[in-house]
Amino acid sequence: MRLKDKVCIITGAASGIGKAASVKFCSQGAVVIACDVSRDSLEQLREETHSLPGKLIPKVLDVTRRDDVFRVVQDVATEYGRIDVLVNNAGITRDALLLKMTEEQWDAVINVNLKGVFNMTQAVAPYMVKAKKGSIINTSSVVGIYGNIGQTNYAATKGGVIAMTKTWAKELARKGAQIRVNAVAPGFIKTPMTENLPEKVIEYVKSKTPLARMGEAEEVANVYLFLACDESSYITGQVIGVDGGLQI
Ligand code: NAP
Repeated sequence: MRLKDKVCIITGAASGIGKAASVKFCSQGAVVIACDVSRDSLEQLREETHSLPGKLIPKVLDVTRRDDVFRVVQDVATEYGRIDVLVNNAGITRDALLLKMTEEQWDAVINVNLKGVFNMTQAVAPYMVKAKKGSIINTSSVVGIYGNIGQTNYAATKGGVIAMTKTWAKELARKGAQIRVNAVAPGFIKTPMTENLPEKVIEYVKSKTPLARMGEAEEVANVYLFLACDESSYITGQVIGVDGGLQI
């Protein structure tokens, strides 16, 4: 098992890519601290992972609530003595064209996708620094690299996630620490986030994607797993595209 007894915090764990990652990490023996805003979905996930070799601990946590973030992370560190992996996967969209985007839409996306990643990482990093090891995986998007019509707020956060990833890869590896920080940039993946996209948008994306299909959540979770475990021990500060070739 590739993550046996590793303590892994995953945000946005109850749906889509985060859910696929939680199941995968549990199947590889991890202790998964599954954080999300939906108690019911987390409970369902706990039941679904019950028979897997790892263990899933559900935590109702809104990553924008800084005090709650620090309390949950401290509880985890106290109970398990360490945090090996952080997956900053929680994310939302509130799409609108620039000329129509409201301040509420801007603030909501910035708060979850950017400040939430900052909150979680700032809470977890001290434990990794003390242990001089760890892996942090941040979820960006192809949109953070190329932009996308109607996603000023989302593109800003996903570009920001890449900038934070590279900064932390440099900052947290000082004094010989083996703390790795990488970003994953998915293309268009079949999850609740994309289920309401108009058919013509999906067809357009497929036409621009060499592999000519949308991705599955598990195909992103596979890359999270690789970056979480020791097989990627010399990889840091990278942005790994999981997009069927959409970026080329
Ligand atoms: P998803 O199915 O909507 O899952 C996201 C999960 O995060 C949901 O359970 C959501 O809860 C939760 N969440 C929202 N706000 C939160 C908060 N403040 N604190 C904690 N959890 C919160 O989306 P997904 O497609 O799996 O996306 C996962 C990540 O991949 C996101 O960062 C997304 O931006 C990124 N991504 C996705 C795609 C794609 O095509 N799907 C492409 C590129 C990047 P609610 O459902 O209750 O809001």
